[in-house]
Amino acid sequence: MARIVQKFGGTSVADVDRIRKVAGRVKREVDAGHELAVVVSAMAGTTNQLVDWTRQTSTLHDAREYDAVVASGEQVTAGLLALALQELGVNARSWLGWQVPIRTDGIHGKARIREIPTDEIVRRMREGQVAVVAGFQGLGPDNRITTLGRGGSDTSAVALAAALRAERCDIFTDVEGVYTTDPRIVAKARKLDKITYEEMLELASQGAKVLQTRSVEMAMNHRVRVQVLSSFNDAPGTLVVDEDEIVEQQVVSGIAYSRDEAKITLLKVADRPGVAAAIFGPLADHAINVDMIVQNISEDGRFTDLTFTVGKADLDRAVKVLEEKRASLGFAALKPDPDVVKISVIGVGMRSHAGVAQQMFKTLAEKNINIQVISTSEIKVSVLLAEEYTELALRALHTAYGLDAS
Ligand code: ASP
Ligand code: MG
Repeated sequence: MARIVQKFGGTSVADVDRIRKVAGRVKREVDAGHELAVVVSAMAGTTNQLVDWTRQTSTLHDAREYDAVVASGEQVTAGLLALALQELGVNARSWLGWQVPIRTDGIHGKARIREIPTDEIVRRMREGQVAVVAGFQGLGPDNRITTLGRGGSDTSAVALAAALRAERCDIFTDVEGVYTTDPRIVAKARKLDKITYEEMLELASQGAKVLQTRSVEMAMNHRVRVQVLSSFNDAPGTLVVDEDEIVEQQVVSGIAYSRDEAKITLLKVADRPGVAAAIFGPLADHAINVDMIVQNISEDGRFTDLTFTVGKADLDRAVKVLEEKRASLGFAALKPDPDVVKISVIGVGMRSHAGVAQQMFKTLAEKNINIQVISTSEIKVSVLLAEEYTELALRALHTAYGLDAS
């Protein structure tokens, strides 16, 4: 007998019929004698609709009311799944975030989970009751509903699994697991049997949409065994595990891409101490995150060009902030470019193997693709390219690193 947390994403609970199928899957585990807590997302599309309604109604953006609205999608699916389980003769009840309570900090719209008291849920699980928990939501210190950021029910599930000391946290989704890269773009992408926490963290934060980044952080910190698998078939999924559980480590495990960044180039910036702080300070003050940065060497020691990336959604604001400072910063021109893609190759094997970056540069050069910005970390090399090369670059790199399915 094991204690298992299962999480079902929006496409898995998209309508009543699918919710019935999910109930059947949960019942199988219950019948096998396991204790179950199930976390659900809202029906596919629902959260987008709710977000849209808040925007249509108000431009003021009171994040507390935003949370009150967008958390409602998970209330519906939690109740429906409990009903569907009861229909199958399984003892089940729904739990909303405030009922558990899943205590969070007060950052409405992207709250972090602080603690989850589990005494009552555990007591009931021991009596054979399935806990169906609404994902994505919690209770803030102001006693109001919070939400955990888009995709947050992954984090709800992992946090609950950690709090319950569950043996496993199964994340059911509409793909069969974690792939070497996006199979919709690269037909030869392979499903990975296992991936390390660190690699998964990089893949998620560099654009792979399969798990919310924060859920991977949480899994890594609490050593939760996460399994990503499809709710539509019984194929084995991908296990996210410690590095020492992976026997034969590839140098590169996966390739992620993100079209969510935009590039800004400042031409002829005065080359003197304090200039970078003067540029990036105001952006930080406006909560605009900067990701990749390159500064050119100045030829005459007086001026330099500076290129960096921000989130595409922040581009217009970033341009405005910088243009307002133009006089004091003294740059000659500002060039925004939203048509870029960031491609990242990721693998813990990079720590012990040289030449990974070089392989990337060579492969892109052979395809005549110009690299605009480069950044690296211990287990990752990222390049910024013109967006039109996304497919070509992904396919060429996938082959070059020996990741193609045979
Ligand atoms: N329903 C929320 C969203 O769409 C949370 C989730 O699905 O994980 O972002
Ligand atoms: Mg999701």
